[in-house]
Amino acid sequence: MLEPLAFERLPAHAQDLRLQVRSFLDQQLADLPAPRRARSWMGFDEHFSRALAGRGWVGLTLPTRWGGAGLDPYCRFVVVEELLASGAPVSAHWIADRQSGPLIARFGTDVQKQFYLPRICRAQAFFCIGMSEPQSGSDLASIRARATPSGDGWRLSGQKIWTTNAHRSHYMIALVRTSGTAEDRHKGLSQFVIDLKAPGVTVRSIRDLAGDAHFNEVFFDQVELDAHALIGAEGAGWTQVNAELAFERSGPERIYSSMVLLDTWLAHIRARPGGSTREHTVVLIGRILAQLAVLRAMSIGTTARLAAGESPLVESALMKDLGTQFEQDLAQWIADAISADDGFIDNELIETLAYTQQIAPSFSLRGGTREILRGMIARGLGLR
Ligand SMILES: Cc1cc2nc3c(=O)[nH]c(=O)nc-3n(C[C@H](O)[C@H](O)[C@H](O)COP(=O)(O)OP(=O)(O)OC[C@H]3O[C@@H](n4cnc5c(N)ncnc54)[C@H](O)[C@@H]3O)c2cc1C
Repeated sequence: MLEPLAFERLPAHAQDLRLQVRSFLDQQLADLPAPRRARSWMGFDEHFSRALAGRGWVGLTLPTRWGGAGLDPYCRFVVVEELLASGAPVSAHWIADRQSGPLIARFGTDVQKQFYLPRICRAQAFFCIGMSEPQSGSDLASIRARATPSGDGWRLSGQKIWTTNAHRSHYMIALVRTSGTAEDRHKGLSQFVIDLKAPGVTVRSIRDLAGDAHFNEVFFDQVELDAHALIGAEGAGWTQVNAELAFERSGPERIYSSMVLLDTWLAHIRARPGGSTREHTVVLIGRILAQLAVLRAMSIGTTARLAAGESPLVESALMKDLGTQFEQDLAQWIADAISADDGFIDNELIETLAYTQQIAPSFSLRGGTREILRGMIARGLGLR
């Protein structure tokens, strides 16, 4: 694994966590081969998530009165960085930890906080995100799923798509229309928490290019939601979803998706008989580390904005755009270096490379595409 870079600017109290997390991960992941670890974000292991929660590292920024560790975003940065760099299977608790928990903590009622947050922190409640619909991806404001008032609560009908882990999560937080029409755009949207076992919910899996089934279509047919299902204010869904996307885009998770491949490749180079390394390989490793150092420093800078209580939308979009480009380039650079290599290449490296290359196009789609992020950055800079 790569050592921390000398000029990182994380505060000492956060750095103190690093060795504890690393030794926990060394034990937990000892038997996990590289192609499995390369799946990290997609690796679903509820036992692992519960063990992590047992150490207090799920929901660690949530207040202690709701079951969290009450730590700051710098501590989360260190834990997430170690998890992803080592390829831990984080998928089970991932969305709840990163988005749903902070969203409920910020906009939820006390009843919602008391119910969901301790369960999130114990890794007993897994969440998925219901934003995209078949005709509404980048143009999220055009969504058509609709909740109408019904008794004290709501009745929901419509469809979501690409919903990561809907087939193995307990809850979805969905953005749906509660008033007006798709033409009303940002007005009239609201967020609900939906129990995925409720009558009228159907989940159908979709396989990705690598053969894994992690995302889904989700259908709602007259699903009854009680009054406590509404998160925040009715009609405030657009503002809330943007705050949620800042949680999603800002962390170190946008740098490390190809890190297991990098580690596996470096181990392969180090193990080479005679230890000889071609000059262009050395140059490439230098280029990779230089880019990683800059991105990491930027990501820490964005974390500092979160730690100051801000919602760094433009910075997060910039971070995600540059970070996912690096993750994609890394897979291609290593593929090129391996093709030019005339020595023996072991199966573990080939399988890790094949998986990372197949999945790499999705790095810049999930959580908002590159073109959309660039539009947001331009708007944030006052250029459009
Ligand atoms: C691995 C993965 C996991 C996902 N998980 C989830 C999830 O859990 N929950 C969820 O809700 N969604 C999820 N998504 C969906 C994801 O958010 C959407 O794929 C994404 O927002 C793009 O929407 P789309 O696929 O409909 O593409 P489209 O919006 O149809 O875009 C197609 C292309 O056109 C470009 N484009 C579109 N509009 C513009 C414009 N105005 N200007 C310039 N270019 C434009 C886009 O950049 C893209 O290249 C996931 C996607 C992936 C790949």
